[in-house]
Amino acid sequence: MSRIHVLTPRLANQIAAGEVVERPASVVKELVENALDAGASRIEVDVEQGGAKLVRIRDNGGGIDEADLSLALSRHATSKIQDLDDLESVSSLGFRGEALASISSVSRLSLTSRVPESEAAWRVEVEGRDMDARLSPAAHPVGTTVEVRDLFFNTPARRKFLRAEKTEFNHIEEGLRRQALSRFDVGFSLRHNQKPLFSQRPADSQVDQERRIASLCGTRFIENAVMIDNEASGLRLWGWVALPTFSRSQADLQYFFVNRRVIRDRLVAHAVRQAYRDVLYNNRHPAFVLYLELDPANVDVNVHPTKHEVRFRDGRLVHDFIFRSLHRALAQVRPADHLPGNH
Ligand code: ADP
Ligand code: MG
Repeated sequence: MSRIHVLTPRLANQIAAGEVVERPASVVKELVENALDAGASRIEVDVEQGGAKLVRIRDNGGGIDEADLSLALSRHATSKIQDLDDLESVSSLGFRGEALASISSVSRLSLTSRVPESEAAWRVEVEGRDMDARLSPAAHPVGTTVEVRDLFFNTPARRKFLRAEKTEFNHIEEGLRRQALSRFDVGFSLRHNQKPLFSQRPADSQVDQERRIASLCGTRFIENAVMIDNEASGLRLWGWVALPTFSRSQADLQYFFVNRRVIRDRLVAHAVRQAYRDVLYNNRHPAFVLYLELDPANVDVNVHPTKHEVRFRDGRLVHDFIFRSLHRALAQVRPADHLPGNH
């Protein structure tokens, strides 16, 4: 008797969902990435009960054509890459074609969208259970709204792992803060249980950018930071680094973006730590908002499903460039400003 069988699509998606959808904040992250990839200039995030009851993301991006709506929910369905060459120089945030399939397998999901070429909007709905998509006409301006209700309603074991509403919401807020810092040219708003938490208009000038940083990271950070912008060997590092006098007891104000992608990377962390080594006590942590830009072909983003990690083609070069850029910027600060005991 044969013992091996192919998993149903639903079960396969639910297993994959374990990697992509850890908690409501992961849903927000994936859906906001989709909105950014769709070219939205305005993204509204609404959540209820820490996202466990509802996550709704509305964007004014390019929308999804009626013919593609159900396909968007299928696993490995993406409009972003075609072949391996595309993957090697991917510039979109998404490319795995997994998020919507995974999220819809563990929630009640609806996707409403309209493309600029069409007068009408369409909605597709799925309910975890059978993955049968229902398509119906709807009203919606150009762009997309995705509603995710009752996350993990059909996977009770995972639902049990959800933390208190406040904790889940904090994760959402922190994630969206990172995304709002990653794209000054896009407006973001966040509401929890109908209450507005923040609303950021697109920030074009440096003044507007610093205003956004002040509201997301605190005025004291921006008042104590210097702006840097350095370019060499096809690499550019720019952003704001806090003077050593504004060091932190925790590594809680450290934002690093690679090609506008939010990342956590040991090589980057090491380079930054080295640059601050002479000016900070060991137990103090620097604060920074930094953007590294390089040719997408020189960085591999397909390391992990959540895409938090990257691999640089020439890690040594990147490490030294970050170290030198920061070291120089910190050395230019008047010596009296950065005596470690001076805070
Ligand atoms: P990926 O982002 O890796 O392509 P997703 O499952 O997140 O995979 O999305 C599948 C596809 O659905 C995308 O490639 C895109 O074509 C479409 N899509 C999803 N969200 C949006 C959106 N907000 N606006 C326009 N298209 C979208
Ligand atoms: Mg995606």
